[in-house]
Amino acid sequence: MLIVMTPLATAPEVDAVIARLVEKGYDVHRSTGAERTVLGAVGHVQESDRRFFEDMPGVFEVVRISEPYKLAGRTFQPRNSIVSVRGVPVGGDEVVVMAGPCTIETPGQVRESARAVAKAGARILRGGAFKPRTSPYSYQGMGVEGWKILREAADEFDLATVSEVMDASQIDDALPYVDLLQVGARNMQNFTFLKELGKTRKPVLLKRGLSATIEEWLLSAEYVMAGGNRDVILCERGIRTFERYTRNTLDISAIPVVKKLSHLPIVADPSHGTGHREQVAPMALAAAAAGADGLLIEVHPDPDRALCDGPQSLLPEQFEKLMDQLRIVVPAVGKRL
Ligand code: PEP
Ligand code: MN
Repeated sequence: MLIVMTPLATAPEVDAVIARLVEKGYDVHRSTGAERTVLGAVGHVQESDRRFFEDMPGVFEVVRISEPYKLAGRTFQPRNSIVSVRGVPVGGDEVVVMAGPCTIETPGQVRESARAVAKAGARILRGGAFKPRTSPYSYQGMGVEGWKILREAADEFDLATVSEVMDASQIDDALPYVDLLQVGARNMQNFTFLKELGKTRKPVLLKRGLSATIEEWLLSAEYVMAGGNRDVILCERGIRTFERYTRNTLDISAIPVVKKLSHLPIVADPSHGTGHREQVAPMALAAAAAGADGLLIEVHPDPDRALCDGPQSLLPEQFEKLMDQLRIVVPAVGKRL
C-alpha cells in the first residue's frame, strides 16, 4: 500500500508512521517530494492496517496497490482459467449454456427439459433439488431423490449437471449426481460452507450475493480456492437495487470488471437477474456480448404450472430461438457456442 502524507505533515508524524509500519512487518520505501512525503509499504496488507494508518496524524490517504484476493486475482495468474465441468470447458473460447428448470418436480418434467435444452445446444442441465426459498412455506425441493432424476436425464442426453447445495452437510450426497456445485446468492458469504467446498475436488458455481460488491464476491471465491479447490466459476445473477420492474438488476458491467480483475470464468444468469421471461433473451445476448463465458437459463416445458420461478422460465421454443440468436452474437466477440 501507499501512504500519502499531507503537505503539512511534520517530520515526527512521518517518523511515527514509518515506525509503526516497521513494527507491523512492512518494508518501507520513502519518497520525499517538494510537496509531500509518500511511503510505500510492502508486505501482507491487512484491511485493518489500512484503516489504522488512515487515522494516524499527518496521513492524507492510504492507497491499496494490490488486490486482497491473491488466488482469484490476475496478478499471480494472468491467463484465464478453464474449469472443466465433467469435460465441458468453461472459460475458454466456447460460451457454455447451462439450462433447465428452476426446480426438479417430476422425472417427466426434467427429462422433457433435458431433451429440449440438449437439442438446442446446451451443455449442462440445471435443476434445484434443495431450494433456498424466501418463505419457509414455499416449495422446498425434492432433496436427493431430485438429484437422481437430474442425473438420469442428463446422462440420457449427454449433459453435465449443475445444482445448488445449501450447506456443507449436503456436499457428500451431491457428489455422485452433481457435476457443478452451485452456491446460491444467499449463501455467498457463508464462510464455513465455502471452506468445506474448498476441500472438495468438484467445480463450484459461486453466485453473487444480492448486495455483494465485486470485491466481496472475489473474496468469497478466494475462500474456496484457499481451501485447495481452484475450480471456481463466478455467476452474476443480479443485485438488489431500487428498481422494481425487474426482479433484480443484472449487473452486466460486472462481467468486464471481473474479467479484468480475475482469471476465473464468469457466467451470467439473466433468469434470476430479470425475473421476467421477456427480458431473459435480451439480457442473455447482452451478457454474451459483454464477454460472459457462459449463461445459466431457466427453461420449463410448462412454465405456467412450474412450482418455482415459472414467470422467468423460457418455453423450450423460446430457448431454441435464443440459442439461434446467440449463434450470431457470440462469434462477433470472437467466441463460439
Ligand atoms: C437458482 O438458481 O435457482 C437460485 C435460487 O438462484 P439464486 O441463488 O441466484 O437466487
Ligand atoms: Mn430459480
